[in-house]
Amino acid sequence: SEAGCGTVSFCERQVAPETLYEMGKLVARMGKAMRGFVSAAPAARKLVWDNRHVLALRPFAGSLPADLPAVAHRLLDYFEHHMQPQLASLRCQIIHGDIHPFNTLMETSGGLSGIIDFGDMVQATLVQDAANCMADFLKPGRAIAPILFEFTRGYCREVPLEEQELDILLDMIEIRLIMAPLVDAAKQAGGFPIQGYYGSTTARCQPLLQELAGPKRQLLIDIIRRAGNFPPRKAAAAQSAGALMARRRRHMGARPYMFYDPPIHMVQGEGVWLFDDKARRYLDCYNNVPHVGHCHPYVTGAIARQAARLNTNTRYITDESLEYAERLTATMDKSLSAVIYVNSGSEANDVAWRMAKAWTGKRGGLAMDFAYHGITEAIDAFSPSNAPDSWNAPHIRLLPPPDDYRGPYLRGDNELAARYAALADQPIAELDRAGLGLAATMIDAAFMTNGMLDVPSGYLQEIISKTHAAGGLYIADEVQSGFGRMGTAMWGHQHHAIVPDFVTIGKPAGNGHPIGVVVTRPEILDHFTSQGPFFSTFGGNNVSCAAGIAVLDVIRDEDLIANARDTGAHLRDGLRQLMNKHHLIGDVRGCGLAVGVELVHDRQTKAPADAVLKPLLNLLRDEGILTGSEGKRGNIIKIRPPIVFKREHADLAVAALDRALSRL
Ligand code: PMP
Repeated sequence: SEAGCGTVSFCERQVAPETLYEMGKLVARMGKAMRGFVSAAPAARKLVWDNRHVLALRPFAGSLPADLPAVAHRLLDYFEHHMQPQLASLRCQIIHGDIHPFNTLMETSGGLSGIIDFGDMVQATLVQDAANCMADFLKPGRAIAPILFEFTRGYCREVPLEEQELDILLDMIEIRLIMAPLVDAAKQAGGFPIQGYYGSTTARCQPLLQELAGPKRQLLIDIIRRAGNFPPRKAAAAQSAGALMARRRRHMGARPYMFYDPPIHMVQGEGVWLFDDKARRYLDCYNNVPHVGHCHPYVTGAIARQAARLNTNTRYITDESLEYAERLTATMDKSLSAVIYVNSGSEANDVAWRMAKAWTGKRGGLAMDFAYHGITEAIDAFSPSNAPDSWNAPHIRLLPPPDDYRGPYLRGDNELAARYAALADQPIAELDRAGLGLAATMIDAAFMTNGMLDVPSGYLQEIISKTHAAGGLYIADEVQSGFGRMGTAMWGHQHHAIVPDFVTIGKPAGNGHPIGVVVTRPEILDHFTSQGPFFSTFGGNNVSCAAGIAVLDVIRDEDLIANARDTGAHLRDGLRQLMNKHHLIGDVRGCGLAVGVELVHDRQTKAPADAVLKPLLNLLRDEGILTGSEGKRGNIIKIRPPIVFKREHADLAVAALDRALSRL
C-alpha cells in the first residue's frame, strides 16, 4: 500500500533477483546494527513466533488440515533431535524477528528503504532473521532456488554466514513455514491469544514444504552453500589407497615421485602437524615450505583478505608489491635493493642466471656437485642431482662440496676453508680455457642436497672472491637457507658473512603460497631490462605479496630465527646422545633447523648405510614422524621442519628415532 513517503510495500509484486540480493544485504545490515544492542526485555521474552520454541506447538500438530500433521511431526522430530542441540552454538543476539516482504519498504524507484514493525524483537539465533525472511518470500509456483541464492548471496556479502549457519538455513526455513499453520491451529484451539493472522497458511505452506522435501532438496542445500561461498559438500566416500593411486597414475603419470610406500593421503595441516585421511597425526620434521607452520592463521588470513580485495599484476602500481620489496630488501645489505618477482625458486634462479650472463657477457657457470636448483632447462644444468649418472652440461663445472665428514679434507684441519675453496681454481680455469668464462656461481647456503654440511667458516667468502676475480657474479640460492632457517641470521649468505650479487627466494617465502623473487643490485636489474622488458604475469601479484609480508611479520613477531637456533641446537644435542646407543649414526650436523644425520655401517670406514634409510623412514612414519633422505649416497636423514618447531617436538622426534633404530 502507499505508505505516504514515496515508498510501497512489496505486497504481491514479482521480486527481481537484484532486489532479493539487496534484501539479503539489508537483513544482514539490520543484524549488524543490533550487534551491540543489549536489552533485558527481548532477552527474557518467550515469543510464540520464535522458531526456537516451535516444540511448544507440538500439541496442535494433530489438528492441522490435510497431510500437514505428518509433515509437522517429521519436522518437529528433526528439530528436536538435530537442530535444537545446535542452537546453543549458533551466533545469538537481539534480532528483528519478523522481517518479511510486508514489513519492508521500497522506494517507488525500486530501491529498498527500510524495515518496519519491531514488535517481535527477541534474543535468538542470528540466522533466524535470514531464514524467516526467505521463507516469507517463497510462494507456491515461484522458483525457490533463485530466491535462496540471491538472498543468501546478498546477506553473506554484508555479513558472511558461518558454515554451520548456512547448513541449518534450509531447516530453519522449513520450521518457519510449518509454524504458520501451527500457530493458526493453536489460535483456533484457543491456545494462544493471537490476533487474526494468515488466512491461507495451509494453501501457502503445504506445497512449499512438499517441494522443499522433494528431489531438489540437495540442490537447494548446495545452492545455499555456494551463495555463502562454501562449496557443495561432497559425499564422503572414503577411497582405498589403491583406488587413489590409480586415479593419480591416470592423470599424473605412470611413475609417481612420492614419499612413502604406501603413500600418505594428507588432508589437513596445523603448525608442525599434518593429518591424514584417517585423522592420524604426523609430526612434520621435513617440510620447509610451511615455514611458519602449516596453515598459519595470520598468513591464511592475509591471503584470504587480499584475495577478496584485489589481485592483479605489477604492470599497475600495487601497494603490496612495493611493501614486500621494501620489507625484503630491508633485511639485506643495502646494495641489494632491486627485486624481480617470479613464481618459484626455479624461475628465480633462471632469471638470475639470465641477468648474470647479460651483465658479465660470459656463458659458464659453477655449481656444487650433487646440487639442486630447479626444473627449468637452464637450471637443470646447475642441478646434477636431477640425474647423477647422466648429468652433462658442458658450460657448467662442479665444485666438490666442503664436506668435512667424508670429503678430501676432514674436520680438525685449520685450513679447511682455503683447501676446499682452492678446489674452485681448476674449474674456473677450465671455463676460461673453454672460452666460456664464469658468468655465475650458484650455491645453496644450507648445502641441503649435500647433506646439511657444517661448512668451514670462511669457505663461501673465498668462493665469492674467486668468482668475482674471474669476472663472474654470485647467486645465493636462498630457497632452502632463507628466512631464518640457519638460526643465526635472516639469510644463509649472512650466516656465511658474504654479500652476494643475487639472492634467489622461493619455497618458504609465502608459507606455501607460490612466490619467487630475485633480489639484486639495481644496476644489474636495469642493465637486464635495458635489453627488453621483463614481466611475469603472476610474479608479484597482490595476494602472493600479502602472503610474503605476512610471513615476514610472523618471523619477527614469533622470534622464529632465535627459535630455529635454540630448537636446532637442542635437536642436535638429542641426536648426538643417540650416537652412544646407535652405532649406525656416523655424524650429526647442520645449522639451525637444517639438520643431517648421516648413517654408516662402520664409523671408521664410514661405509654408507643407505639401504637401511628407507625402512627407517617407514618406521618413523609408523611412529608418526615425517622425515626424508638426502645426500649423494642416500644415507642421510634430513630433518628440516617448519621453523616453529619447538624443543618438545624435537624431543618427540629424537625419542621416535631411538625406537625406530632399535627396531631396525
Ligand atoms: N633451489 C633450491 C636450493 C631448492 O631446494 C629448490 C627446491 N627444492 C629450488 C631451488 C627450486 O624451487 P622450486 O621447486 O620452487 O622451483
